[in-house]
Amino acid sequence: MPRIAYVNGKYKTHLRANVHIEDRGFQFADGVYEVIYIYNERFIDIEMHLDRLNRSLRELDISWPVTRRALNIIIGEVVRRNRVKNGNIYIQITRGSSGRDFSYPANLRPSLIIYARKTIKDTIKRSIKGHKVVSKPDIRWKRCDIKTVSLLPAVLAKQAAIELGAIEAWLVDEEGMVTEGTSSNVWIITFDNELITRPANNTILSGVTRKTVLELSREMGLIIKERAFSLSEAKLSKEAFCTSSTALVKPIVQIDMDKVGNGKVGPLTRALIKNYFNYIENFI
Ligand code: PLP
Repeated sequence: MPRIAYVNGKYKTHLRANVHIEDRGFQFADGVYEVIYIYNERFIDIEMHLDRLNRSLRELDISWPVTRRALNIIIGEVVRRNRVKNGNIYIQITRGSSGRDFSYPANLRPSLIIYARKTIKDTIKRSIKGHKVVSKPDIRWKRCDIKTVSLLPAVLAKQAAIELGAIEAWLVDEEGMVTEGTSSNVWIITFDNELITRPANNTILSGVTRKTVLELSREMGLIIKERAFSLSEAKLSKEAFCTSSTALVKPIVQIDMDKVGNGKVGPLTRALIKNYFNYIENFI
């Protein structure tokens, strides 16, 4: 069955789903995106994703290509046509196409591209597996709070991580503080059982999974500190994990050459994974 994507008003097979060569997304990475997790045919935290999409568009002065209601309908249709029960939906909106020029004309029609990807259904068992990350300098711009398609520093850092046998690169700023992963938010648990994650400001993307995990942690009665932490503190922590809509809650047991805690997935991370699965199982 060929995969079907939505491109500017039409449903097309991936082979025919093209954008114009002067699309500003292609020319200048002048666009934004969202990735939503699909579990048991439900779009996890979709409203939070669409709120963030709205914010990204507003920050870049790009208008909505269709109404939010219409977007919801198209998302459902793409998933239906591709028969995705578990996977992800990708939404990309660019400023549109116009003759190449850094500046842009007023009232450009934004481009809307939506496609879906099937994945094997996640399970708690497979999620409770420890992974390695490596640290890389954070060379990104100062508006990481906007989910733009301008992802080159993340691409390079992630590739370097994979080549080193890691699943993710944790990005470190000039002060030695960890900002986030290339496509995930990062967390540590101290030996005092405090859950630490960097506050959501312009240096990180405010993750939807981050928000949900914060909420679940509050419900669990954990002591939560939203503060920056250094790479050395992370390496000396008891537990660590990262979160994203595709990785969910992913335990980290090694950072560079250093083991985190005893090198095994810790009890609080396990509990959070279980609670996250409980959340997505019951998500309506
Ligand atoms: N940080 C970055 C840079 C990301 O690209 C992502 C997701 O792609 C995240 C954090 C996690 O965000 P979310 O939980 O909304 O998927």
